[in-house]
Amino acid sequence: MNYDPSNIFAKILRGEIPCKKLYEDEYALAFPDINPQAPTHILVIPKGPYVSYDDFIGSAADDEIIGFHRALAKVINQANIAATGYRLIANAGVDAHQEVPHYHVHVIGGRDLGAMLGK
Ligand code: 5GP
Repeated sequence: MNYDPSNIFAKILRGEIPCKKLYEDEYALAFPDINPQAPTHILVIPKGPYVSYDDFIGSAADDEIIGFHRALAKVINQANIAATGYRLIANAGVDAHQEVPHYHVHVIGGRDLGAMLGK
């Protein structure tokens, strides 16, 4: 799948749509999900144009991959959910119901998250 620069997270990265920035560095941006599924529900996105996890890992430079994951850990620590627990979700493609075709990791926590998968 080719990257579509008109997706909503690309617009957020370009500053065309506002978001509440929770964390930003050269590799990643984190902001609250507009439709939170738990008390903590943060989206962490790489700054580069990647559609999915496999696209990101397959195409990004090593420093982008390391920088993004370090940023992800900082977001988790900043949200104070490391001790109580959290779930990371990266939806990709049709079967996972990916809505926004810019790679993103959902950081979810702040309550008992129940079983890993619904039906
Ligand atoms: P996906 O299904 O692609 O993994 O998740 C996309 C997520 O982006 C959804 O949880 C949705 O609530 C969130 N989202 C969609 N549009 C916006 C937006 O404009 N701002 C923010 N903050 N979140 C959005």
